[in-house]
Amino acid sequence: MNSLPPRGDSTSYSSTRIFSVLPLLGAGLRKLLWIGLFVWLLGSLGLGWLVKGVVVVIVMLIAVPIAGILIGQWWLKKNLVLGSCPVCSNELTGLNGSQMACSNCGEALRVENGQFRRLATDGAIDVTAVDVEVQSVDVTVD
Ligand SMILES: [Zn+2]
Repeated sequence: MNSLPPRGDSTSYSSTRIFSVLPLLGAGLRKLLWIGLFVWLLGSLGLGWLVKGVVVVIVMLIAVPIAGILIGQWWLKKNLVLGSCPVCSNELTGLNGSQMACSNCGEALRVENGQFRRLATDGAIDVTAVDVEVQSVDVTVD
């Protein structure tokens, strides 16, 4: 509780602080004044369009990346799909409408309606090939 300086000290502290900030504020104000004078000079010379053009370019330089980031975030939120592989149930991340291979089992997958589906056609049955040895059997029929 005793961390704050006594009242008498705090007033002198804040006043010295204001005086240390004033020159900085003055410099900023002077710069702003010069810019204002420059703009007014250009405007009086009939070069207002130049000022407007510069302002438009500056606004575009600031606004376009911000808009791009916002649109990108919205698009990602809409199209990013978190799910699991239908074959090995490995956790996957994909974009809606894209095709990819499962990072775990290598199964070709398509991202549809927020779900991971196998690229194989509907009704296809997974068959693992089995080596079948041929055996000769003698059968005698009367
Ligand atoms: Zn998989």
